[in-house]
Amino acid sequence: MKSQKTVGILAFHGDVIEHIEATKNASKNLHLNIEVVPVRTKEIIHTLDALIIPGGESTTLHKLCEREGMWEKMKQIKNIFGTCAGAIMLSNQVFHKTHDQKTLELMDIEIDRNAYGRQTESFEKDIKTSLGDIHAVFIRAPRIIKVKKDVMILARNDGEIIACEQKINKNYYLAVCFHPELTSTIFHEYFIKKVYQI
Ligand code: GLN
Repeated sequence: MKSQKTVGILAFHGDVIEHIEATKNASKNLHLNIEVVPVRTKEIIHTLDALIIPGGESTTLHKLCEREGMWEKMKQIKNIFGTCAGAIMLSNQVFHKTHDQKTLELMDIEIDRNAYGRQTESFEKDIKTSLGDIHAVFIRAPRIIKVKKDVMILARNDGEIIACEQKINKNYYLAVCFHPELTSTIFHEYFIKKVYQI
């Protein structure tokens, strides 16, 4: 691996600033020197060790990535952490998608968009995860409804999977249905540790 550690945050819309802050804080907590860069063009994708896809709107994220000609290149990134809309982007099957919506199809998970209902049905809850406790914020969140055997479950809410990870060959993917960047750095630290194998 090259000497400068670089983690990108897909920076079209959504919680970009919050993810940049959480990633910087996580790397500080781990005593690592990581450059955290916003990603808006395909040119920097090859410099990234990992990418974080923030929540927002998965249909819009897909369109903007296509418009910038970076969609196919994103599939080559070895480590991706998707939160909320980002988890939808990672999944290989989506229910209630729009007719032209595509996902990266990198993780063996099936996900249901807007499964909890409208924006007003958004909620917050203290959740126990395999990484520790977190105050989880669900904003028009998706539900992970099915995962393949080799997907490891990291957290559930009332029995439903809300955080999981999958290693496929040398690639690593982490998907969560809520917004960890708003309340904690535990998921960012966990992801960084996986990326740099520490
Ligand atoms: N409802 C959004 C979507 O389908 C996800 C919401 C979020 O990321 N907070 O992309």
